[in-house]
Amino acid sequence: MRATIIHGAGDVRIENVPDAEINEASDALVRVTRACICGSDLWPYRSMEPSETGERIGHEFIGVVEAVGGDVRTVKAGDLVVVPFAYSDGTCVFCHEGLQTSCIHGGFWARDGVDGGQGEAVRVPLADGTLVVLPVDEDDALMPSLLTLSDVMGTGHHAALAARVGPGKTVAVVGDGAVGLCGVIAAKRLGAEQIVILGRHPDRIALANEFGATDVVSERGDEAVERVRELTGGFGAHSVLECVGYEQSTVTALSIARPGGAVGRVGVPQQEEIPTTLTTFFDNVTIAGGPAPARAYIEELLPDVLEGRIEPGRVFDRVTNLDGVPDGYRAMNEREAIKVLIEF
Ligand SMILES: [Zn+2]
Repeated sequence: MRATIIHGAGDVRIENVPDAEINEASDALVRVTRACICGSDLWPYRSMEPSETGERIGHEFIGVVEAVGGDVRTVKAGDLVVVPFAYSDGTCVFCHEGLQTSCIHGGFWARDGVDGGQGEAVRVPLADGTLVVLPVDEDDALMPSLLTLSDVMGTGHHAALAARVGPGKTVAVVGDGAVGLCGVIAAKRLGAEQIVILGRHPDRIALANEFGATDVVSERGDEAVERVRELTGGFGAHSVLECVGYEQSTVTALSIARPGGAVGRVGVPQQEEIPTTLTTFFDNVTIAGGPAPARAYIEELLPDVLEGRIEPGRVFDRVTNLDGVPDGYRAMNEREAIKVLIEF
């Protein structure tokens, strides 16, 4: 079978790899029908040290179950399934608490010998806990939106929950990438009254407005903080979604939360420390967030996708096939594309 291998910064190739197969009784073998490239895949694309053998990559995909191990009960051959970006057993203490990214037996795709999602097939460990069957066929028009449930829509929702978005709240979303845009959808869905998007790419801002953003701040740094305060009665936002992870964006996010507000961080931090520690301490700002337990949110978000109340699949602005994946990385890295969908 063929799959995406990253060999180093700027070096993504499509190569032949050993066929995915069932190894454990709790495994499922999934033939991938749709996958995509994540903003977080761009971190190794920018910085990975050259590697002779390379590494599998990709963690967002939908596919058809081809076979299951002897212990698998909740999915069967022929089922179309959406796959969250972490696999989990569904039975441990953290899974029961809805924090599947901390599953005691779980893990992440393309690590520790587990297959990556940007390939023709994947061995799915802990299939019962991980996979969610979709009640549509594999070429349904909703496929792009359903695919976002494996990561970006769940991540935007997680940021909104961590930032305590609710009816009547003022919300600021830092970052206009696919996760930030899904954060806007999530904030609107949870009843936010005002949603300020911080970003500067015209195509992304236009989409944010369609998703429910009420104000746009294109400045950066201190000017951005000033603008958000002006727009929010002088105090800042109740809820701030940090969807980037850079030091500057984190400083901005923490600086625009009003006293007693909350910041939900879902951008993977690119620095060791949490900045503005004294200000946020004296302002009683809650700092929460982390990797989204996307698995926990699929059942909640799925009806809204199936019934068309939210359309997160609109973040995909380019479609390619497996051979087009290397150019998809380039296009996303150069900000030519917001997010690239891969059809198999
Ligand atoms: Zn678990």
